[in-house]
This record gives sequence, C-alpha cells and structure tokens, in this order.
Amino acid sequence: MTVNERAVRALKEILQKPGNDACADCGAADPEWASCSLGVFICLGCSGIHRNLPEIGKVKSVTLSRWEDSEIQFMAERGNKAMKAEYEAVVPVYYYKPTHKDCQALREQWIRAKYERKEFSTAGRKLPYEEGMREGMLMKRGRDNGQFFSRRFVLLEREGNLKYYAKQDAKMPKAVIKVDTINATFQPGKIGNPNGLQITYLKENITRNIFLYHESSKEIVDWYNSIRYVQFHYLKVAFPGSSDAELKPKLTRNFLKEGYMEKTGPRQTEGFKRRWFTLDHRRLMYFKDPLDAFAKGEVYLAHRDLGYSVCAGLPVGTHCNGAWQHGITIVTPDRSFLFTCESESEQQDWISHFSSAIGTSMSPQEYSMEALFKHKY
Ligand SMILES: [Zn+2]
Repeated sequence: MTVNERAVRALKEILQKPGNDACADCGAADPEWASCSLGVFICLGCSGIHRNLPEIGKVKSVTLSRWEDSEIQFMAERGNKAMKAEYEAVVPVYYYKPTHKDCQALREQWIRAKYERKEFSTAGRKLPYEEGMREGMLMKRGRDNGQFFSRRFVLLEREGNLKYYAKQDAKMPKAVIKVDTINATFQPGKIGNPNGLQITYLKENITRNIFLYHESSKEIVDWYNSIRYVQFHYLKVAFPGSSDAELKPKLTRNFLKEGYMEKTGPRQTEGFKRRWFTLDHRRLMYFKDPLDAFAKGEVYLAHRDLGYSVCAGLPVGTHCNGAWQHGITIVTPDRSFLFTCESESEQQDWISHFSSAIGTSMSPQEYSMEALFKHKY
C-alpha cells in the first residue's frame, strides 16, 4: 500500500464518524473534500467557496490530494460535529442557513459569516442584521422597461415595513411594504444576476413582485437576513404564545416549484395559453412573463375537506388546442382550473406538490386567506 492509499484509508475511517457524513456547511451527503485549515469535511461546491477565503481556505480532496500525517491527525481531532458546536454555537433563529440547493451568494455569505467573521461563535454579539433599521441603495428592475435602476430602500423594525423611493431625495416612498406580507427569495437565474433577490408581497390582497440585486453578495444577503430579522420580531408580537420553532416557517420561504404550464380560462373554451407558474406554499400564481410585477391570477390550494382536489388529465370533452398534452385538473368549490404540462414528469411533479398542499391541514390564518380568495373568482 502506498503512502497515499494509507492516507485515503485513514480519512475514509474518519469520515465514518457522526457528523462527517454530510457537508459541514450545506448538509450535502457524502462530502469528498475537506478544509484542513478548519478541520471540516465539505462538498465540492462549498470547497470552491472555502478556497477563496484568505488564511482559512486550505482545501484538499479526500481521495485525490496528498495528505500529511499531521493533517490527517488534525481532521480526526476536529471534524464536523465539534466544529459546528464551535462555529454555529449561536445561530439566530431568523438567520437563513442555506442548503446545497441554495444559490452561491447565500452559501458563500453563510460560510464567510461562520468562519471569517465568526458571527455565530459567541453569544451577545449584535449582528449587522439586527440594527432595527437598514437603509441603502439596491438595483431595482423597472416594471415596464425591464431596466435596472438604483433605488433607496429603508427597512424599519419599529414600523414593520420596507419602503423604497423612486428618487434619492424623495420624501414620499414609492411603496410601503408590510413585512408580514413579504416573501423574499433568491432568484439568480430568473433575474439574470448572481445576487438577484425577488420580493413578493401583498398590496390590497394582490400579489406584487419586485426584482432586486446588489453588486455585493454580502450586501444582498445582509438585506435578506435583515428582512427575516424584522419579520421574526413582528411575528413575535403578533403571535405572543408561539415558540420560535413555530414562527420560523412563517419567515421567508423558497417557492416550492416554478415553471411553465398552459392554462385555459374559466369557460374552458378559450385556447390554452402558456403561463409562468409559481407555487408559494398554497398560492399558485401565474404570470405572462416570469418577471411580471403582478400575477395574472392565483389559485389558493386549500384542504380537501373544503372541496379542493387535484387529478391528472382534463375533463372528458375538453378541447385541448394547446401544444402540451399532459393535463392537470384542480377542482375548487367555485370552478375547475385546467392546465397542461410539456412532459409527464413535469405533470407528476406539479401534481405531487398540489396534492401535498391539499392534503395538509390548515392554520386559522389560512382559513381566512381561503375565504378572501373565494371572493376574487
Ligand atoms: Zn456543501
């Protein structure tokens, strides 16, 4: 056995220890890389981020790199469990811990916050997200022309809202957004910028989208976590009896699924038209274009006991004049919605998400939401 084979065998043994079976930073299974400055096992994606950290960015492949005995010893002594206890000792409830499915900006800032800035190592530190007020310029996509312009944004914990101004010195905000209606999600692909952030909110019960970015990934991720911080404190006041664990899922959430389907109108005789669909928990919204400010319409997916159901296929006799053939029918107490998907796998994927929403019991807030939606049809 060569020196290196021995090293690989020793490392594989260390990888068997609890905690080392998943990336220390994003949780991806079976990490094949390691930071030998920090003593953690990480996935390929996170290793690329670590590599760019000055001073602490020494990464090696478990199987391909040459390892010194002292380095193997170091990995054995440390490992993911012990280092998590050190670097993630006090992660605030509102702080979003990214997974391997999240975008580069979120993962990079999480790794930098953990190891470079050591934000979560000792209690009692006031983090930049917790100021109660954040003010700054963000690039915002214009509603009509699709160009991005620099706009001043102000987030205020005291007022529980996010405002933005059309001009730097404007007195009146262009919009006042209540934080409890905000859902912020990173959308680099859709927005066409690695730091692209979509903010979805309600204005007079109508869903509205704005699309933002900042050149600096730290700035945009700080904004994102500041919004979560303000939302969390708003919810604490609104639901005084709730535990942190109950409130956490009410903060920003990633969309369950997005993509194109074709749909027909309420009379079901209109042609099928291609629309961009976004499923945000129980709200299925559709847009003409993925970057539209307003949804063309929405379907609220309430519990099946209230008369909601979903099935594959279209009602017999539906004149399917669209290009796509894989039908889905959603039945609500008021009407049926007919969709078609490009492929069977897309159809099955959408159906499994719809079924899961319809099969999940509802909170009191969701009952009032459902009642509100009924009036819209
Ligand atoms: Zn990872």
